[in-house]
Amino acid sequence: MTPMPFGVRRLLFFALAASSLALSANGIEPGRRPNIVFIFADDMAYQAVGAYGDPRMLLDTPNFDRVAKEGIRFDRCLVPNSICGPARASVITGKYSHMNGFYNNTNSRFDGSQTTFPKLLQKAGYQTAVVGKWHLGSDPTGFDYWNILPGQGIYYDPPMFEMGKRSKREGYVTDVITDLSLDWLKNRDRSKPFLLMCQHKAPHRRWSPAVRHLGHDGDRKYPEPPTLFDDYAGRGLAERDQDMTIMGTMNDDDLKLVDCPEHLDPEELKAWNAYYQPRNEAFRKANLKGADLVRWKYNRYMHDYLACVKAVDESVGRVLKYLDDEGLADDTLVIVTSDQGFYLGEHGWFDKRWIFEESLKTPMLARWPGVIAPGRTDDHIVSNIDFASTFLEIAGVDAPDDLQGRSLVPVLRGEAPADWRKSFYYEYYEYPTPHHVRPHYGVVTDRYKLVRFEATADLDSWELFDLKTDPLELKNVYDDPANAGVVDELKRELAKLRRDLRAPAQPPREAFGNRPLDEAIKKP
Ligand code: CA
Repeated sequence: MTPMPFGVRRLLFFALAASSLALSANGIEPGRRPNIVFIFADDMAYQAVGAYGDPRMLLDTPNFDRVAKEGIRFDRCLVPNSICGPARASVITGKYSHMNGFYNNTNSRFDGSQTTFPKLLQKAGYQTAVVGKWHLGSDPTGFDYWNILPGQGIYYDPPMFEMGKRSKREGYVTDVITDLSLDWLKNRDRSKPFLLMCQHKAPHRRWSPAVRHLGHDGDRKYPEPPTLFDDYAGRGLAERDQDMTIMGTMNDDDLKLVDCPEHLDPEELKAWNAYYQPRNEAFRKANLKGADLVRWKYNRYMHDYLACVKAVDESVGRVLKYLDDEGLADDTLVIVTSDQGFYLGEHGWFDKRWIFEESLKTPMLARWPGVIAPGRTDDHIVSNIDFASTFLEIAGVDAPDDLQGRSLVPVLRGEAPADWRKSFYYEYYEYPTPHHVRPHYGVVTDRYKLVRFEATADLDSWELFDLKTDPLELKNVYDDPANAGVVDELKRELAKLRRDLRAPAQPPREAFGNRPLDEAIKKP
């Protein structure tokens, strides 16, 4: 069949939409049951996606940008707990960490007997698959096919577990995950709609590039974020006490100042050494100190991190091409997102965890021809807890009552539901290792963030940030008498959210190895 030009398809869609008989109440053709492709990067900063327009213009990402251009870019997609495992558990359950029991990467294990959206889609006749990073401790449930990296996975020749059976794949992890995803699509049962979760390891730490992308930036000196040399004045102990700075925490392994610790074949190793060794020698000779050293580390970090993103962007392109070639694009909702955001030097940091913008906010792009008008942006507060409700709705499956997110379908269609959330609850638990970020929770609105750090022997504080007057989040204005009314209002809102979401009154012991937080602090 000759593909219909996009403009004609759109005209046809709106003609159909005009007829109330053609569509059900939510605007989806009855029985249409679209496919779902969920491309999930790990630690992917929105600042690294071209479509998000970071002033540093860090990288060209034509394939991410294609999804934005043909679909929608969400500018306030916020995560409930900014760290790998918990974000994944929230995606599949549609619930906060305190409800699905997966608090942190150090001692949580996902209870796979819980209800998840892949299980419900599978039951409703979808073919379901997850390929790549899983990171939930237990084996995947609810998938007809799974092929996952053990734990965090590694970048080169990654071992994988295919339906529980160990195998080893040759190649670069992002390519391997893409190949396996496309293989599954090619071999699927074509009589059923499908859910594919293609979950990358990249660009997670240690940011090891594909050999073909070494030197991709021509030794560019990257523009710096304005807070690269943040001294944390104006904020409290928590911000000063973390262990996630480029200056102090980023190590020789992260910076590729050691021999390649992972397996590369001899040709690849030669290319790896040809890139890193002369640059490392020059670095050692220069004997950099202080700000110069931070700048060197920042540039090495950007080269490696962005090279990893480049491979993810290529993966997005390959998946989109497959959908085009197979004539599936019109019947497929494509979501491209990440488990959380990431610091690319803002506040002097790498990593994530905080309620602050760069870690709280994740890139989120979606394409669904005929439902999402192309080229839109949206600033509703949405979240990765919303995916479960969304996918269930489009599959025509009733969502369980206890989901804590909300279907994005009306927002995807361009509506502005009057009762959409105006505030968002955030929680974080993993402490003290690996990055010594204090457990905290808080409420986020379009303008403010009110943060409560969990009380411990050495810390008992609230912080307030006003994004309108302080978009870089440099000044805690909690004690400013002018904000007393705002603080009261936000505390009421926070209490309401905690009640509605059934958040625990005290930090849960399970989040700290079955001991109280204060004890966890004393005995890491
Ligand atoms: Ca992550």
